[in-house]
Amino acid sequence: MSSSATTPVTVIGLGPMGHAMASTYLDHGHRVTVFNRTPSRADALVARGAHLAATVDEALTATELVVLSLTDYDAMYALLGAADPAALAGRVLVNLSSDTPDKARAAAAWAAERGATQLTGGVLTPPSGIGSPDTSTVYSGPRAAFDAHRATLEVLTAADHRGEDPGLAALLYQLNMTMFWTALTSYWQAVAMADAHGLKAADILPLAVDALNLRQFLEFYTPRVDAGDHTGDVDRLTMGAASIEHVLHTATDAGVDGALPAAVRGIFRRGVAAGHGADSASSLVEILKRPTA
Ligand code: NDP
Repeated sequence: MSSSATTPVTVIGLGPMGHAMASTYLDHGHRVTVFNRTPSRADALVARGAHLAATVDEALTATELVVLSLTDYDAMYALLGAADPAALAGRVLVNLSSDTPDKARAAAAWAAERGATQLTGGVLTPPSGIGSPDTSTVYSGPRAAFDAHRATLEVLTAADHRGEDPGLAALLYQLNMTMFWTALTSYWQAVAMADAHGLKAADILPLAVDALNLRQFLEFYTPRVDAGDHTGDVDRLTMGAASIEHVLHTATDAGVDGALPAAVRGIFRRGVAAGHGADSASSLVEILKRPTA
């Protein structure tokens, strides 16, 4: 990664993520301006040379490139909605906050009305990965703005521009979190079930690592799903439905919460009821494309 350390950066939002970003820019010699609703969160950064802006207007006008790391887009409006429109004009707002694709698109239009440009980002690493070239962030929005600031953004993580639609990066981020949270919750479920039988998390670590390494399944199913091919030649939904039934009973027999396997069983049952029993479990994609009736 390379970046001109002369490029000044403003970071608005100093939760764990924004703090790590501002800290990384300081590490790389950038002039860093910070702003946060709770100013004391900037203390350690100020001690290292960051400038704490007294107002959001001051933060915005300090630099062209403004990185936003806030809880959500409502937090952005809470801060920037009160800004002088003149302070927003000409800024490139790199919004790395999590929210829905629709919120990201609306915010891009809101910024454009004020003469600012929004780049949407989805950060695919926890704060501990900021500053590593092995981590990545997906971006979308105007390509020219991305190209102009790519080197500075790559100080944080590798940067991958995926398209002009400002909602796209938010979508990709939410897809990532869909898989992350549900997979991690499946791990918590397994740990709870193991605990009920006297096993520690450490006892099931190799099993868990193997179980959550789904690469071969994803690579097998991807072309089939894209082709709409749910042939039950390798697996059948009825087999999966019986299997998840056993998981549920293993949990409840041990006095463990069964909400997660029961929810999965419900989805499998809908698939079987819709006539997919002899099809692959991939046919659940067709079930999940529609909300529960
Ligand atoms: P936090 O939720 O801890 O960020 C909080 C930041 O948002 C703080 O600066 C907080 O200000 C500010 N904030 C929240 N609500 C308001 C408001 N109404 N008005 C003004 N400021 C507000 O999250 P993180 O720092 O952990 O993450 C930032 C973003 O990055 C989130 O969208 C998160 O989903 C995303 N992300 C986080 C990852 C992680 O592992 N942490 C990983 C990938 C993405 P104050 O300090 O005053 O409370």
